[in-house]
Amino acid sequence: MGKITGFLEFKRENESYIAPEKRIENYKEFTITLPENHLKDQGARCMDCGIPFCHSGCPLGNLIPDFNDKVYKGKWKEAAEILHKTNNFPEFTGRLCPAPCEEACVLGINEDPVTIENIEKNIVETAFNEGWITAQPPKVRTKKTVAVIGSGPAGLAAAQQLNRAGHTVTVFERDEKVGGLLRYGIPDFKMEKHVIDRRVAVLEEEGITFKTNAHVGSNVDANQLKDDFDAVVLCGGATVRRSIPIPGADLKGVTQAMDFLKLNNQYVDGLVDFKDIISAKGKDVIVIGGGDTGSDCIGTSNRHGATSVTNFEILSKPTEGRPAHQPWPYWPMKLKTTSSHQEGVERFFSISTKEFLGDKDGNLIGLKTVEVEWIFKPGERPQLKEVPNTEKEWKCELALLALGFTGAEKTLADQFGLNMDFRTNIEASTKDYATNVPGVFAAGDMRRGQSLIVWAISEGRQAAYHVDTYLMGESSLPLKDDGDLPRI
Ligand SMILES: Cc1cc2nc3c(=O)[nH]c(=O)nc-3n(C[C@H](O)[C@H](O)[C@H](O)COP(=O)(O)OP(=O)(O)OC[C@H]3O[C@@H](n4cnc5c(N)ncnc54)[C@H](O)[C@@H]3O)c2cc1C
Ligand code: SF4
Repeated sequence: MGKITGFLEFKRENESYIAPEKRIENYKEFTITLPENHLKDQGARCMDCGIPFCHSGCPLGNLIPDFNDKVYKGKWKEAAEILHKTNNFPEFTGRLCPAPCEEACVLGINEDPVTIENIEKNIVETAFNEGWITAQPPKVRTKKTVAVIGSGPAGLAAAQQLNRAGHTVTVFERDEKVGGLLRYGIPDFKMEKHVIDRRVAVLEEEGITFKTNAHVGSNVDANQLKDDFDAVVLCGGATVRRSIPIPGADLKGVTQAMDFLKLNNQYVDGLVDFKDIISAKGKDVIVIGGGDTGSDCIGTSNRHGATSVTNFEILSKPTEGRPAHQPWPYWPMKLKTTSSHQEGVERFFSISTKEFLGDKDGNLIGLKTVEVEWIFKPGERPQLKEVPNTEKEWKCELALLALGFTGAEKTLADQFGLNMDFRTNIEASTKDYATNVPGVFAAGDMRRGQSLIVWAISEGRQAAYHVDTYLMGESSLPLKDDGDLPRI
């Protein structure tokens, strides 16, 4: 343990942000790094608990007290080694993870928890800056070949683990660049894309081949892949978007959030002209959906120069603090105010959109809503009830649908002959990540449904262990004990 009295001496200190009016002038990350001595103090707050609940709060099982202790002692290189034992890409999670570990931190019972996520980011950034993150190609090749389909965090993690086990790995990605939702969903102001490029360069140096514009099931034949490779790992994500089947849904201006975000990220990357994106400039924007995707649409709309940004969420407003029925160390459903919310938005809860309104040319000019209430009865699914006389019309020229995803695309499942589960994900159990077709495995959002980066990395790593075992009869890759502790 670092400093025995650290948690008594030091208060939690978060990194600060560039002011909203300044940061919305561009798409760059806007966090201001804490000085090293402050970071050490934050590491010193870790109590090295007898049972570190943070380990199980983290889907990767990160060895949090161990790296906190090294940070406190200024041993950054050792901290980076510990961190990379369980997490292939802490630069992604250190920026983007909702940090369930912090909700499970024992200090969080009666104090502010340790700033685990920020410490993680600073460890990996120090490691890159110091040149400690170098390619680790395997010493011996097994002559086995593996195709990974999809280059999001699950595919990248599976590929790196399998390559380290000595297999020859090719990643097939249908987009023009690698990264999945890290690249085309999450805006640059949350994570600049050179962060992905920097890591992919290491993976390439380790010997992984990336084939982009390679759409399996379209310009790459799925059955050919099965013949050409000893194993296939499907990491294609949960890409089927939820729509809203109400009158006016086909008006010009009713837009899926992912179309809006992807084009914008391509624009920021210089791949698309501003005139070809879906612009929010000078428009009254309404974002329907209160999750991460909705928040990213709010931040992007403000950067475009929207006239107004409004956010609707059909669920009722969560409490500011931890609800009584979700005690520590469970993940609490509490009100989240993101950096994008702070940049300017009016948020409404318990509101349902009934109709989109258009002009005679088919352009969106507004929408109609009604307030709703949720009725909870023991043993029954919650019921949604409209509140009488609460209909309202709103002016709006761009409505962004951030309603989540319903599951994986069927094409791949059909081509490989795979079973899908009742939630239209690829069916494969966490016992071995194997599908019903021998040699074909699935991981990440494609298997578990829409989730988080940290889970995608975790699934990629777990699946790699089982693929390696399938190919070699045993595996020396790390395998995490999934346990039965609270998960998000
Ligand atoms: C807008 C948005 C913001 C988010 N923000 C956060 C956040 O802040 N923090 C967080 O933890 N999570 C966030 N998430 C969720 C997170 O991004 C996902 O859970 C995670 O990326 C899933 O990883 P994955 O590798 O399983 O799939 P994906 O990242 O979806 O990658 C799948 C890849 O497979 C490719 N692919 C699919 N089919 C084929 C095919 N047939 N052939 C070739 N390639 C194919 C796709 O092009 C894609 O590149 C966000 C999601 C969205 C949409
Ligand atoms: S990956 Fe997420 S849950 Fe795990 S230690 Fe980092 S911030 Fe916490």
